[in-house]
Amino acid sequence: MHQLRPIKRVAFEGPVTGRRFYGCPVQENGVNCGVVEWVDGPWPTVLQRCLCKLWEMFHEQNFGRVQDKQKFEKELARLKSEHERELAKLRTENDKLCIEYTKLVDDVSKMFDWQDGRVDKKVYQKQVEEEELEKKKKELEEKAMLEV
Ligand SMILES: [Zn+2]
Repeated sequence: MHQLRPIKRVAFEGPVTGRRFYGCPVQENGVNCGVVEWVDGPWPTVLQRCLCKLWEMFHEQNFGRVQDKQKFEKELARLKSEHERELAKLRTENDKLCIEYTKLVDDVSKMFDWQDGRVDKKVYQKQVEEEELEKKKKELEEKAMLEV
């Protein structure tokens, strides 16, 4: 059909795999006159069956590989979204903790202030008591002096 010298090739399909032949040299667009003449005679039936089985296995494995890839990508997407969900949860938890922590610091400092106030009050009260005692002592001394 193409008026070209056929070239020697090796079949790579089904039960004829490995058989040499002369074929059309045109390759583009899939338009090809195909086999012009076989170099090797047909393979024994047993070998042909084996070749068919091998090709079947090969295609199944490829299909499996595609499925594995899809499964892998699905799993990856699932893990990604799970990770993002977990991250968002952690972020809200962190925000909550930050608020709680701020509140805690506030409460603790308030507690310290209150305690300081109490301590100051106690110190003040003690001072007042001591001053009163001193006053009483002086009064008693003055009284004793007057009595003498
Ligand atoms: Zn051709």
